[in-house]
Amino acid sequence: MKLSDFTRWSNRATEWGQKYLDTLRSRPVRAQVNPGEVIAQLPDRAPEQPEPMERIFADFTRIVPDAMTHWQHPRFFAYFPSNAAPASMVAEQLANTISAQCMLWQTSPAATEIETRMVDWLRDALGLPDHFSGVIQDSATSSTLSAVLTMRERALGWEGVAKGLSSAPRLRIYASSQTHSSIDKAVRLAGIGQDNLVKVACDENCAMRPDALARAIADDRARGYLPAGVVICVGGTSIGASDDVAAIVEVARRENLYSHVDAAWAGSAMICPEFRPLWAGIEGADSIVFNPHKWLGAQFDCSVQFLADPSAQIRTLGLRPDYLQTLGQDEVTNYNEWVIPLGRRFRALKLWFLMRAYGLQGLRERIRNHVAWVAELEREIDALPHFRITSARRLALFTFQYAPPGRDANAATESLLKRINDDGRIYLTQTTHEGQFVIRMTAGSFDTTREDVMSVLDVLRDLATD
Ligand SMILES: *Cc1c(COP(=O)(O)O)cnc(C)c1O
Repeated sequence: MKLSDFTRWSNRATEWGQKYLDTLRSRPVRAQVNPGEVIAQLPDRAPEQPEPMERIFADFTRIVPDAMTHWQHPRFFAYFPSNAAPASMVAEQLANTISAQCMLWQTSPAATEIETRMVDWLRDALGLPDHFSGVIQDSATSSTLSAVLTMRERALGWEGVAKGLSSAPRLRIYASSQTHSSIDKAVRLAGIGQDNLVKVACDENCAMRPDALARAIADDRARGYLPAGVVICVGGTSIGASDDVAAIVEVARRENLYSHVDAAWAGSAMICPEFRPLWAGIEGADSIVFNPHKWLGAQFDCSVQFLADPSAQIRTLGLRPDYLQTLGQDEVTNYNEWVIPLGRRFRALKLWFLMRAYGLQGLRERIRNHVAWVAELEREIDALPHFRITSARRLALFTFQYAPPGRDANAATESLLKRINDDGRIYLTQTTHEGQFVIRMTAGSFDTTREDVMSVLDVLRDLATD
């Protein structure tokens, strides 16, 4: 394909995209393919000779869309949403075309400065105090790994990055059982080890008990271990549980531990002041992550990490070899020093388009609607015969079970879920809560409607026929 054909093919792609998005409701949400069906349609080897774009595009439309689960489908109620507001997709197309590698200010002045401004806009929109600055990352997993590495190095006085961990004391990180597996992954990758992630006991709300945290830290110190940090959960993935941020941060401060808050999903809801009690005390945290691609509407991927004092993380992750010096520009921000990869995409552009095209009011209204509709659905499901709510709604997430008389509720719920997802009108996923197999229901697609959310009831009525 020649550069002179770029407009033609971009337009073709855009026209296809508009039609795809307009007709999403008529497609099954979850891909209805079997493993291996796609790879069987692809030749064993790459072509030696160029192929015409016409043929490549035809193969795309023939093979790909039906073999994808449609994350932008308005009846996608699984996992957590991964959104792509139309304006943010346009921004992403522009960033794709410029295709800059935004490691240094010098390699990408506009990307760097828009990033600084967008993180500040988001900080203010979420009601965070202005001592926070931040950086855009690819994922909450990367943001959390950055924070855990910083916990490690801060506790070791930055000896780990210099000498390795072989003679270091045994480091300890604390979190509740409701925290995401990305915390487990971070302690594994940071050389701290899974066995040194202490899962602190929770109270009846699935929130970490501050007294249990304090006791675990004291026990560890008595054994000669080195407590380094605590990961606080706000809106956990399983049932949406949250820790008491103020109480946990207070223990962390008293014990000189670094605190990192994982609000990957729930963070977006904090643009609405009425939801902020959920993370009361957040101003005392050292690090916070949330994913604007999840609920706010930014095209995937886009994770924002706020830092009370970025210098600890920069000292942990930043390197400045000769070939990355920006001569005479010591005062500029080089965001690669804040994160793990050197190369960085221009993710700030889609935040700029997103916040301007919908306004904070428009973004708040969507989240408020999702919460209200999910609350309405929760009441309706609770009233259906043989259904029970297994964890009460937190923001826009609750779980439920199907328990027809004379049947094992776990087995009945699992088989109902399979029928729901084979049916295709909606898409739901499961979790384990208090040892039970339960179905998670969460709404957060950018253009979902009340009718879409309430359609869950029709599907349940049609398919729960045991
Ligand atoms: C989605 C999620 C993550 C992982 O996010 P990635 O960006 O995919 O790494 C971590 N924590 C919570 C609470 C989440 O909801």
